[in-house]
Amino acid sequence: MLPKVSMRIILLTIIFVANTGYAFDLSCGGLLAIFKDKRKQVDSYVWVGEKPPQAAFKKHFKLEGELKRHLVIGSTLTRITFEHFQKGALQVPGDQVSASTPEEVALFEKSNYEGKPKEVGKVVVTTDKGQIISSETLIGIDVGVQQYKFNDAIVEIGKTVVKLGQKIQSIELVHTHPFPQFIFVDPAGNQKAVLSSLSKGDVDFAKEISSMAKFVKVTIRAITPEGITYTRSILGGQDVTAGPPKR
Ligand SMILES: [Zn+2]
Repeated sequence: MLPKVSMRIILLTIIFVANTGYAFDLSCGGLLAIFKDKRKQVDSYVWVGEKPPQAAFKKHFKLEGELKRHLVIGSTLTRITFEHFQKGALQVPGDQVSASTPEEVALFEKSNYEGKPKEVGKVVVTTDKGQIISSETLIGIDVGVQQYKFNDAIVEIGKTVVKLGQKIQSIELVHTHPFPQFIFVDPAGNQKAVLSSLSKGDVDFAKEISSMAKFVKVTIRAITPEGITYTRSILGGQDVTAGPPKR
């Protein structure tokens, strides 16, 4: 989701180790390497787990310039799975990390991950009578879903809830981060994780919505290609996200 100011969405949680420089791999044709940045090519790396689509992989370089300097051609990149979190090998402080539900996977499939990926989203409201009302799929741009689309969807659902004579009990802001996640190992054997978890802009947006509805639980979720969903919940300005991995 697009933060208001910076227009940046994805918080790439990148743990970099110093002294990892990039050097052209001249063995594969120096001139060609100059004109075509091989660091952005999915085939420049050894993949453990499913190799991601080229366009989705390349987005990382648009979003995170730092990555360019640290990814060394020929590195081994291991796709992240939910098991990494279950085993405690990876953590995202503050986020609840869970396996994506079938509904979340279905929403993710609308992101065109295999082709030209873009973020999509959805608002899901639960009323005080337990009725669940969802918006249509909100189609974003390549690196975000505009916040006004979520705002408009909440207002529209709110009108319906009023007509029903009910109250909003919770609001879920669900969206996708169609960017592959991986761990890479540099030549010195140091590991670095690149995650597509919730951005600060995502969490700030949830807090902003929460500030307008104190007694409504506001949850924001980001669904990723590996079937991992990152969640944060805010109620009355307080972070009420549940703890350890589940499902
Ligand atoms: Zn986001």
